[in-house]
Amino acid sequence: MKPEPLSSELPPAGLPQEVVAVLRDLLPPPGDGLALHEPRFAGREWDYVKDCIDSGWVSSAGAYVDRFEAELAEVTGAGHAIACMNGTAALHLGLQLAGVERGDEVLLPALTFVASANAAAYIGAVPHFVDSEETTLGLDPQRLAAYLKDIATFDAEGRCRNRATGRRIAAVVPMHTFGHPVDMDPLLELAAKTGIAVVEDAAEALGSTYKGRGAGSLAPLAALSFNGNKIATTGGGGALLTDDAELAARARHLTTTAKRAHAWAYEHDEIGYNYRMPNLNAALGCAQLEQLPGFLAAKRELAARYAEAFAGLAGARFFTEQGFARSNYWLNLLLLDETAAADDSSPDSSARDAVLAASNAAGYRTRPAWNLMPSLPMYKDCPRMDLAVAESLARRIVNLPSSAILGTGIAHAR
Ligand SMILES: *Cc1c(COP(=O)(O)O)cnc(C)c1O
Repeated sequence: MKPEPLSSELPPAGLPQEVVAVLRDLLPPPGDGLALHEPRFAGREWDYVKDCIDSGWVSSAGAYVDRFEAELAEVTGAGHAIACMNGTAALHLGLQLAGVERGDEVLLPALTFVASANAAAYIGAVPHFVDSEETTLGLDPQRLAAYLKDIATFDAEGRCRNRATGRRIAAVVPMHTFGHPVDMDPLLELAAKTGIAVVEDAAEALGSTYKGRGAGSLAPLAALSFNGNKIATTGGGGALLTDDAELAARARHLTTTAKRAHAWAYEHDEIGYNYRMPNLNAALGCAQLEQLPGFLAAKRELAARYAEAFAGLAGARFFTEQGFARSNYWLNLLLLDETAAADDSSPDSSARDAVLAASNAAGYRTRPAWNLMPSLPMYKDCPRMDLAVAESLARRIVNLPSSAILGTGIAHAR
């Protein structure tokens, strides 16, 4: 067989090799493998955790929980923070407090981590998947507005309903992908017009800002995560954020088995959860937040170096923040060009997979984006809009090693 002539549309044959060369040049030697994102404990973690153990305050109350909550409110600009045992729990609670009920629909990006959809499903609500925007990787407010015009109607009480299913569209969950904020203002405007509640999934975006406002303070309710791979970690943990004092009080009540304050009696007045963050984890979190400014600076510096190093690359570009945003650059990424990603000159691997295979073989733990939610068995029958952009993004994203330790000032210090 004669080889096909190479079209000028095709990516350079060496895209995977060029990516690996940049990683080799920019990052420390990978040793047994350079993680996608590793936590860094270089502050007072030991002191604070030991203090919990010495004092006996290890569980779901304690001074570190209070302090962690106060500091989260300060960092994000939200009025109140309620520390939870993980981000999924915070999101579940947030949707419930937003008024989502069994049988409602919740608008969610198709390109997200599965926890966003699971949180809606725990309530018995139905995820309704929405397309993403090429420039933010997050939910596209303009396309969502056009879509709702098409498929939504308003009932006698003025509530937004899916005309096809009859179900109420109760909430929308913008997720700030890899730390890059969704274009929130048009989304908030749309939500106000339609009466759809907004719950921010800010799990990946602690420290990011949108038009100067902190991620997690952009909607009436928001969820953060402090899982081990996030920018700041409590081991496992999350937080619900809100400006509303009443919602905050309800969140505290629901996270502590809906137990009413009493000196000795067990009085529970509704079905609550055991969702509170233990003091031990909050102690770790307090030490992490002390280092957050350093983490953010290191990650922005690393992103800037990636941007420069990949500037001349043909076939892919380094993804950077929008003018309205300041990203925490939680996970850095390369976005392959459409033409490069569509190249299937190799029968059993896409261009993206070739980049992933070469970089992982070289010891750099690069990763693809998540599979789109409707491709998962439990969400395959959920309603969705046309997902052309999300589908394209999912084929083109390659996440790059992004630990704060790789930024200058911290790099090579381990
Ligand atoms: C991490 C994450 C969550 C959930 O957080 P956990 O603390 O792991 O439960 C939710 N949504 C997104 C987008 C996340 O990245």
